[in-house]
Amino acid sequence: MHSANTFDVAIAGAGPAGTSAAIRLALHGARVLLLEEKKFPRAKLCGEFISPECLAHFQQLGVIDQIIAAGATLLGETVFYSARGYQVAVPSEWFTSGATALGLSRSEMDQRLLERAKAVGVVVLENAHATGPLLEGDSVCGVNVKTSAGTSDYRARITIDATGRTRALARHFDRHHRRSSKRKRGLVAFKAHLENTRVTPGACEIYFYASGYGGLSGIEHGLSNLCFIVSASEVRRRGSDPDRVLQEVVMQNSRAAETLREARLRSPWLSVSLEGFGRKTLTPVNGLLTIGDAASFIDPFTGSGMLMALESGEVVAETIVSRPGILRDAQTVELIAEDYERRYTSRFASRLRVSGLLRRAAFVPYLAETAILFFGASTRLRRKLARATRHANQQKARASLS
Ligand SMILES: Cc1cc2nc3c(=O)[nH]c(=O)nc-3n(C[C@H](O)[C@H](O)[C@H](O)COP(=O)(O)OP(=O)(O)OC[C@H]3O[C@@H](n4cnc5c(N)ncnc54)[C@H](O)[C@@H]3O)c2cc1C
Repeated sequence: MHSANTFDVAIAGAGPAGTSAAIRLALHGARVLLLEEKKFPRAKLCGEFISPECLAHFQQLGVIDQIIAAGATLLGETVFYSARGYQVAVPSEWFTSGATALGLSRSEMDQRLLERAKAVGVVVLENAHATGPLLEGDSVCGVNVKTSAGTSDYRARITIDATGRTRALARHFDRHHRRSSKRKRGLVAFKAHLENTRVTPGACEIYFYASGYGGLSGIEHGLSNLCFIVSASEVRRRGSDPDRVLQEVVMQNSRAAETLREARLRSPWLSVSLEGFGRKTLTPVNGLLTIGDAASFIDPFTGSGMLMALESGEVVAETIVSRPGILRDAQTVELIAEDYERRYTSRFASRLRVSGLLRRAAFVPYLAETAILFFGASTRLRRKLARATRHANQQKARASLS
């Protein structure tokens, strides 16, 4: 008999990583607790470009019809524009033949996934802030949670940190946390929804400019999402005013100047500072696993962060259910970290390496220009590079909207 506060798996964070893991584990019969500090639906800073491989995940998770019904825009290609207007296109079908990318706000997408988690029996607590891990000896055995009613402890055999780049649980074990945050790149990201843009229908457009890049693409209700990254020093120089940063930095890109000239804001600006990219400590302590951005933050120009979140939810769920004794046998909990590290590395290491190399060009205008001209000249090379930012097996997966 289970007590009300005891679960097989406790997951903090209900972004795509947390809900993907929660739904898959619940469908395998696990008792799952999912904690989310916000009340959904909520806006989220993101480019809202949903890579075509995500459709296969939505199908497996049982939300594909709901996502399409929410009004997602079909995005057949991504077009990269250098500051001076050179362009290179990457068709969405290079990633998964027969599928298209989607544009949909995170408030809609995340809400659909959360509703599905509730429907398959996950115990969901919103407005529930995971304040820290519960410790038993040197292992994590659950999570402490703060709500408006007070604080509570929830015990679980496995605890998963899916809180995104904040790593709300894992960071308690990050010895170098203070030092690494001093070494941050000094970038700020902004996002807003716009009307009246001149983005090409069916395209996600990426603009490079001095000190960063941004993306513009259609979402639901005829709106566009504009999301961009700029160095913190450029932002400070403009009094941290997003409208000035847009006019004076982003619109230095000739294509952005054209598509955004008559655009009007339809949402407040969201902003967040970025503290670096790449892989973090995956399994910081016995009993605690990380997924999604809490595990690795892939560069946004790849348009694959949500895909990695959905996939890492799948990898963690597969790892847990592959050991039937996991929810009873303490030894299995110890072994699972090793197993998870192995599976995760085989799935993600290569694309994180490729993205890290491309990042060097993304923040240096003449390199971005050269890369666009170089890859523009060869469809074969371009296709190869685009696919290197994904997992090989994903490209074989098919998902159709019909
Ligand atoms: C500028 C920018 C543009 C991007 N554009 C794209 C794009 O176009 N396409 C794409 O695929 N990816 C994009 N990404 C990446 C994408 O947003 C992330 O990879 C994705 O959101 C990761 O999902 P996640 O579930 O790991 O984390 P998140 O989506 O960050 O979800 C984490 C959840 O945890 C909750 N949470 C946080 N702390 C706590 C706590 N203590 N207790 C309880 N809950 C908590 C949060 O409220 C949130 O709901 C972009 C990222 C940035 C920064």
